Amino acid sequence: MDWPQLEAAVAGCRACGLCESRRHTVFGAGSTVADWMVVGEAPGENEDREGLPFVGASGELLDNMLRAVGRSRTGSGAQGAYIANVLKCRPPSNRNPQPAEIAQCAPYLNRQVALLQPKIILAMGRFAVQSLLQTNEPIGKLRGRVHHYQGVPVIVTYHPAYLLRTPTDKAKAWADLCLALETAAALERAG
Ligand code: URA
Repeated sequence: MDWPQLEAAVAGCRACGLCESRRHTVFGAGSTVADWMVVGEAPGENEDREGLPFVGASGELLDNMLRAVGRSRTGSGAQGAYIANVLKCRPPSNRNPQPAEIAQCAPYLNRQVALLQPKIILAMGRFAVQSLLQTNEPIGKLRGRVHHYQGVPVIVTYHPAYLLRTPTDKAKAWADLCLALETAAALERAG
C-alpha cells in the first residue's frame, strides 16, 4: 500500500471495537519525507474531533520540544517530523489502549514506518515503546540507549502528557532529544 491507500485503509478500518465510538480516525501528520518520526499513544478527545494527532496541550509541548531541535510537523527532510500514534482511533474516555487493539493497529504503524523510512523514531510513552520494541520494561530503564524497529534507530522518551504532569522530568526528555540528535548526526557521518 502507498500513502493514500494506507490512509484510506485506516479511515475505513473496522478491525476492533474502537471504530464504533470514533468520530475520526487519526492517521498521522507531517511531511512524508521527514527525517524524524514521532510515535505517540492514541488520539484523545481533541484529536478524535479534528482527525489530527497531538492537537491539545500535549501537542503544544510536543511542538515546542521539536522546535528546540530544529524540527516541526510542517517541515520536511532534516527540518521535519512526521507524527503518528500506535492507535489510530480514540479509546473511549481516554482509557489505556488494550493489547488486542494495539495488535490490530500495529500493521498500520509498521507500514507508515516502511513508507517514511525515517532516520530516527522517537517513541513517546509506554504504549509506543511496548508496541515498537515489544517489551514491558519501564521507560526509565529503556532511555539513554539506541533501540531499533525495522532497522530504524528508536529513542525512548516520556510522553508529553506525562511531562505536563511531571515537569521535573523535562530535563530527561531534553537529554533524550539530544541523544536523538547525536544518533542522527552519527548516522549522517557514517554515510
Ligand atoms: N496523545 C497521543 O499520544 N497522541 C495524540 O495524538 C494526542 C495525545
